[in-house]
Amino acid sequence: MPIAPDDVHLDALSTAVRALANGDRPAANLAAEQLAVVPSQLLTRQSITPTMTAQVMQRDYFSCLYCGAKIVPPPVLRAASLVWPRLIPYNVNWKTGVTHPIYVSHAGTIDHVKPYAHGGLGDIDNLATACWSCNLQKSEFSLDRLGWQKREPIASTWDGLVDCYVALWEVAQPRASAADIHYHRVWLRAFGAERRIMADAKTPEQVGKDKLAAAATEAAVAKTAAERFVWQPGDITITNPDGTVVK
Ligand SMILES: [Zn+2]
Repeated sequence: MPIAPDDVHLDALSTAVRALANGDRPAANLAAEQLAVVPSQLLTRQSITPTMTAQVMQRDYFSCLYCGAKIVPPPVLRAASLVWPRLIPYNVNWKTGVTHPIYVSHAGTIDHVKPYAHGGLGDIDNLATACWSCNLQKSEFSLDRLGWQKREPIASTWDGLVDCYVALWEVAQPRASAADIHYHRVWLRAFGAERRIMADAKTPEQVGKDKLAAAATEAAVAKTAAERFVWQPGDITITNPDGTVVK
């Protein structure tokens, strides 16, 4: 059962408006003074950075802390929409009819548990992963007013498909606009996806493969250095410039 907010501001507004309607401007202004709030209570919504968003979603195991729904970060959904534009249509304003329902059902958002309107801050403890639907319902309401409770994050292997973000983006990129490219660069970085590519490339196995491939290419184009190719029955031996054999 929702709980009504306290009426301090409504009372002040009523007094001020009624005084004004009665022609008592000084009394109206005096009552209106009661509506003054400290700046942090105003709806000056600070944007939550992509890095902070990624941190909160990872902390919450990519699940809504209100209803428990698995969420997918919007950039991952948008990359999927670029890959399959007809199957997963996306509109920049999330217009109904031209935006796939999965955006509403599973796009992840970050919610201020204690709303800005109630003096809530943007620090990580006041932020929670929320599905789009819960965030929309919660709006600027406090949990008390809605009778909702915030769940504790439950450990899960669900990763919001972030692990596939790079792969999706690589396919999506040729169809992306300049704005898309900028947007995804920021989000790939926020989710550490770029770092992951570099880390993968640096695994000893990959470095070995890369070296071998580079050596093979180099050897193949070095036609004048025919002596570097020693044909064996059913095998090719490639020697490095220092004489060692590439295995
Ligand atoms: Zn939810």
